[in-house]
Amino acid sequence: INGLKKSFTLPGGMFAKKRSLKAVHDVSFGIEQGTTYSLVGESGCGKSTTGRLISRLLTPSHGEIWIDGEEISQKKESQLKLVRRKVQMIFQDPYASLNPRMKVREIIAEPLVIHTKLSKAERNHLVSEMLEVVGLTEHHADRYAHEFSGGQRQRIGIARALIMKPKLIIADEPVSALDVSIQSQILNLLKDLQTEFNLTYLFISHDLSVVEHISDSIGVMYLGTIVESGPKDVIFSNPQHPYTKALLSSVPVPDPRLRRERIVLQGDLPSPVNPPSGCRFHTRCPACMDICRTVEPEVKKGLADDHFVACHLMD
Ligand code: SF4
Ligand code: MG
Repeated sequence: INGLKKSFTLPGGMFAKKRSLKAVHDVSFGIEQGTTYSLVGESGCGKSTTGRLISRLLTPSHGEIWIDGEEISQKKESQLKLVRRKVQMIFQDPYASLNPRMKVREIIAEPLVIHTKLSKAERNHLVSEMLEVVGLTEHHADRYAHEFSGGQRQRIGIARALIMKPKLIIADEPVSALDVSIQSQILNLLKDLQTEFNLTYLFISHDLSVVEHISDSIGVMYLGTIVESGPKDVIFSNPQHPYTKALLSSVPVPDPRLRRERIVLQGDLPSPVNPPSGCRFHTRCPACMDICRTVEPEVKKGLADDHFVACHLMD
């Protein structure tokens, strides 16, 4: 992902001019095959929009998206069929994303109907395989999604995403709607499936504690930009950006001796329609300096080759 940008034009009114909302502002990162990259940040920071751009449910205003050797950022809908096979999404609310009038078998087989010429028997065979892979059974195939618990529904969503053997799976808050005990089951399932099938994940979450065990790398987003990115261990043990430090300080740790001092951010998240000048975080940053109000910080190399920080403190 290289220099990705997305603006939305907000309608004007009788007294208001049309305004532009910069949802994603110059986002760059890479995901190695078989690994998980997580985008983390508060709601409204642009992480879901980034996911939708990469899956090409939205078209970027600017920037490049390379998937499996192919640049897809400006492909037209008619050219996107192959992309739709290669990139699958798992959504937050499995209930809302599963068709209530379809049986589980049809839900999971739907991508095969759209993208392949397999016979019904062949499709059924693959569906049975997938049910087993995600921890469900053949008995579940002829029921409707509403008959299942949240965790089971998410297993159905995962089976549906996996059945095309995608190159990339984008999981947008896949466990946020689930109870904590079920969350870890689904996260473990995603991790086991990754090992088994060498899957590549873009994982989107507002919750750093959720991404801790599943991520190889993490990008922390604030108001449409990635403020810090790097290997998970660096982000968790030695974060450099004040925003990352604040987010991490609210993650519960089991050992009280390791507890971080809680950093409570002042003020509300500013509007992406009118983002702050200079560093976008300066209105809430506990370490804000004069330069931060006027000069946008460059992305600088941090503590490792693949660790990057956008903050004047790095100077
Ligand atoms: Fe804080 Fe300045 Fe760094 Fe922005 S650039 S995070 S305001 S210290
Ligand atoms: Mg979101």
